[in-house]
Amino acid sequence: MRIIGMLGGMSWVSTAGYYACLNRLASERMGGLHSARILLHSVDFAPITQMQRDGDWAAAAHVLTEAARGLEAAGAGVILIAANTMHIVADQVREATVLPFIHIADATADTIAAAGLSRPGLIATAFTMELPFYRDRLEAAGLTPVIPEPAVRAEIHRIIFDELCRNEIRAGSRRFYERVAADLIAAGADCIILGCTEVGLLLSAANVAAPVFDTVEIHCRAALEAACFETGETYV
Ligand code: GLU
Repeated sequence: MRIIGMLGGMSWVSTAGYYACLNRLASERMGGLHSARILLHSVDFAPITQMQRDGDWAAAAHVLTEAARGLEAAGAGVILIAANTMHIVADQVREATVLPFIHIADATADTIAAAGLSRPGLIATAFTMELPFYRDRLEAAGLTPVIPEPAVRAEIHRIIFDELCRNEIRAGSRRFYERVAADLIAAGADCIILGCTEVGLLLSAANVAAPVFDTVEIHCRAALEAACFETGETYV
């Protein structure tokens, strides 16, 4: 199994979820006490969020490409960005190393298409819901994303940064997200993408009345698949 190089800390809350998910999936796949081989570069999230607010994607790309090179030098065999939003700089990160890069939107689109669904409601940061970098990848896979109204997008975004990325789980915010999912389904969505890696803290198959695609789970499955590809499932 190759070592999974993970660019994390965006936020640390969801990176903890990635760590648990990768290990749970490795154990399910290989059995016994097997766990995932992981190298984590966890960034300081505050400067990253400032770059996001400033639209300074070059600076963000610099941080993540340097980190990706470090993971490659340390022995990683695949690379992933453990967040949806920072896939804004996915091309730069992909080109920074020779390693396979696991794109979260492509993995998500493939999973939804394989399930025979085509109109995913997208719940994510404003960047992910509004900028083309994510929606274009879904559309390229034949999907038609359904996006909430502007005021709703703003509140979804606020909850992500003011609460979820700080590990604050509030019942009122859960109820708001449940209403957003229900409204997207009423507007024609045939499934819901948890398109931000913290949204799974509030939504799941248990409180959404349509198939739910959690990008953390999907991304981890794709990374593990790539890590086991060619090298088999033994320690190499
Ligand atoms: N984890 C997030 C995502 O999946 C949001 C935090 C960020 O802006 O990086 O988009």
